[in-house]
Amino acid sequence: MNRREKSLKINESYHKAINILEKTGIRITSQRKILTKLIFQKGNRHLSAEELFHEVKDMKVNISLATIYNTLRNLSNYGLLREIVVDQNKSIYCTNHMPHYHLYIEDEEKIIDIPNQKIDLSNIPEIPACLSLHDIDIIVRIRTLKDKKIN
Ligand SMILES: [Zn+2]
Repeated sequence: MNRREKSLKINESYHKAINILEKTGIRITSQRKILTKLIFQKGNRHLSAEELFHEVKDMKVNISLATIYNTLRNLSNYGLLREIVVDQNKSIYCTNHMPHYHLYIEDEEKIIDIPNQKIDLSNIPEIPACLSLHDIDIIVRIRTLKDKKIN
C-alpha cells in the first residue's frame, strides 16, 4: 500500500466511525470528532485512554479524560475499536480491523499484533451443538528479561 492509499484508508476509517456514531443517535460533538480523527489518523495501532489524553494535550486541545473514556467505550461498543482488557484497571484499544491476536509485553505495557495463522486453534474444546462460536481473543503475556530490554 502506498502513502496515498494508506491515507485514504485512514480517512475512510474516520468517516465510517463518524457515520456509525451518527446512526446510533450519539451527538457528534467537535470533541468526539477530534478524538475519532486522532484515534484513526495513524493507521493500525494500540492506545490507552491515557496515551490519547497526552496526544490531545500535545495538540493544546482541552478534552477531559472522562470524555476520552466515554468516546473509546462508544467506539468499541459499536465495533469500531477492539478493547483489550490487559488487567482489571487497564484497557488498550486496537484500531486494526483484520482478525488477529495480541502479544502483550506486561512490564512495558506494549501490545503487538499477532496474525491469526500464527496460532493453532485446532485443539480448542468442542462447542456444544446448541451454541455457536462467536469470537476468540488471545492475549499472549510476556515480560522482558531484567537485564535485556526489548527496544
Ligand atoms: Zn491489535
